[in-house]
Amino acid sequence: MKLSNLILKAIFYTAIISTFLAFTISTFFEYKNFLKESEQIRSDFINQKKNEIKREVNKMYDYISYNEKNIKIKTKEKLRNRVNDAYLIAYKIYNKYKNTKNEKEIQYLIITSLENITYESDTYFFINSNQGRAILFNKKSYLEDNKDIWNLKDEKGNYFIQKQSNIALNKKEGFVDNYFIKPNTDDNKSYDKLSFIKLFEPYNWHIGMGFYIDDLTKESKNEVLKYIASIRYGKDGYFFINTLDKKALIHDGKEAIPPIEYPNESLFKKQLEALKNPDGGFFFYKFKKLNSADEKYEKLAFVKEYAKWRWIIGTGSYMDELDNELLKKQNQLKNAIFTKSSIILLIFVFLFILIYFVSKRITSFIESNIINLISLFNSASSNLKKINLDKFSFTEFRTIAKKLNKTLKLRNKAEKRVRDLLEIVNKNVIISTTDAKGKITSANDSFCKISGYAEEELIGKSHNIVRHPGIPKETYKQMWKALLNGNIWEGELKNKNKNGEIYWVKITIYPTYHKGKIKGYTGIKQNITDKKRVEYLSITDELTQTYNRRYFNTKIEEEINRAKRNNYFLAFIMLDIDYFKLYNDTYGHQKGDEALVKVSEILIKNTARASDFAFRLGGEEFGILFSYKNEEESLAYANSIKNEIEALRIEHKANKISPYLTISIGLVVTKGEKLQSADSVYKLVDEALYKAKETGRNKVCISI
Ligand code: GH3
Ligand code: MG
Ligand code: MG
Repeated sequence: MKLSNLILKAIFYTAIISTFLAFTISTFFEYKNFLKESEQIRSDFINQKKNEIKREVNKMYDYISYNEKNIKIKTKEKLRNRVNDAYLIAYKIYNKYKNTKNEKEIQYLIITSLENITYESDTYFFINSNQGRAILFNKKSYLEDNKDIWNLKDEKGNYFIQKQSNIALNKKEGFVDNYFIKPNTDDNKSYDKLSFIKLFEPYNWHIGMGFYIDDLTKESKNEVLKYIASIRYGKDGYFFINTLDKKALIHDGKEAIPPIEYPNESLFKKQLEALKNPDGGFFFYKFKKLNSADEKYEKLAFVKEYAKWRWIIGTGSYMDELDNELLKKQNQLKNAIFTKSSIILLIFVFLFILIYFVSKRITSFIESNIINLISLFNSASSNLKKINLDKFSFTEFRTIAKKLNKTLKLRNKAEKRVRDLLEIVNKNVIISTTDAKGKITSANDSFCKISGYAEEELIGKSHNIVRHPGIPKETYKQMWKALLNGNIWEGELKNKNKNGEIYWVKITIYPTYHKGKIKGYTGIKQNITDKKRVEYLSITDELTQTYNRRYFNTKIEEEINRAKRNNYFLAFIMLDIDYFKLYNDTYGHQKGDEALVKVSEILIKNTARASDFAFRLGGEEFGILFSYKNEEESLAYANSIKNEIEALRIEHKANKISPYLTISIGLVVTKGEKLQSADSVYKLVDEALYKAKETGRNKVCISI
């Protein structure tokens, strides 16, 4: 995927997700708010309704209380008015006839006019004399009878006539409370009766009238009920009144006449429960509406007891208004969410377009920088050229390019150094590699130069191509043994180039591995030909090419030590040309030198083994150090050399024992344990040679 596409996508998805999240979160909080508000509305509504219905019930409670208290006041006023009326009537009659008629006639007229006046609840006037005589008693005239009622008592034993007379005489008028059985009833209960009396001065009477309080209360209750049943407030508000003994007085908005048994047991219990609070209580229930059929609605009610009358005053409020209120709120929320969504959608579309263009621009910027970076990286990596920093508009890319330039610089520097080093190595170190079988896989310039072969001629061949036959096979065996065991081999080898010329190398061969197995070998060689030449010259006799005396002195010590260590046989030959002085004399010094060279060649040929050495010990005297197992073999070897020399058939006329050049040989063969010093060995062989000369020449004498 392209980076620019990724960025574009990332920006796009981020925009979508954040918009969606913003919308979801805000809607979530809006909804939460709505739930909270709904709850608030509900509780506010209920509280408001509670206050409202409580206020209404309290108002009604006050109204009833007012009415209840007013009963006595009204009664008193009524009684006072009526008694005053009666008094005026009596007084008018008295005034009118006092001068024309006698006392009895006037009294008769007064009684007649008052006795037939009756009011509601069967109330009437009574007249007594202040001495306790009945005048008008129980609607009957006792004017003639002189009926003494001074000692009449009420149900509670009060002498009420005396009481009334007292008030009339002392205060002229006043109220009196008495208790009487009601006429026309048979319950034998005494009822509170309130009376007003007034002094009628002309005859020392008192005129009065009495009301049974309970009759008045009943009346008042009926009036109150009628009024309450007619009250409507608010939308569906009305009152209900029940008694504590489960009678419904106002039910379903109507006065129940006569009162009915309350029809709903559980609802009545709820009311009693709510009444446990002396200030009244609330409860929820279901009830039909006034003008609806039977459908019931949730309702909240408040009830309060009017204890004096044992009434339950209550009113309720329907809760469906709350549902309407909530529905209104819900619609408001829906509208709010819709509006918000539309705004968010619009913002999103706008943002999206904005983001699209901005991100397009950013990504194209980045893309061009990346393309530049890639192409510059390409050219930098292929041409190792510095990157042009002007092509980047972003600091970050410029920093990357800068770092790359720095890396390139370092790399170029390092590469140059490596190249120089390789050049030096290539020129000075001879390197070749082979596969596991020893076939050449690469050869560097130095190798090609020293060997005289081109690399192509070498590849696929074995190193035998430069092998010199002078190197003993044993050396190669040891080398391969070490290498096959995974060891490094080091040594000095004599090689032969394409032209057959000798060169010497000091060589280190490393096995190379692949997955733990030897996959080939690398040989690092150093040209030591010059060193070897100097070495050779220092130990070689120039004329005969055999080793010189100096080398012999070193070698004899070495060989003696070796033979002692391993208890080998050390064999040493000393030979001398017979009558060589005479040869020189006969053929000249030049010919003498040539003869020396020819003899030496035989000696060199017979000391080709690594363990055999031929030395020119001086003049025409030579030595051979060699290793043979025992005396017979050593003797045979010495004789074969003697014979080979004679077999050269170098003419030597002056030789007294042969027409050809001959030699005499002294031989020493000693076991290591018996060896002493070089001098002693030398002495022994010298003696043997002397013996050979003495005993006839052209022979081998062995030291015993
Ligand atoms: P003999 O059989 O007893 O050994 O007799 P001889 O003549 O060989 O006696 P001797 O060994 O004493 O003589 C050595 C001679 O070898 C002396 C010298 O003329 C000759 N000679 C020594 N070195 C050289 C050399 O480098 N070149 C030549 N041409 N002759 C040499
Ligand atoms: Mg000699
Ligand atoms: Mg000699």
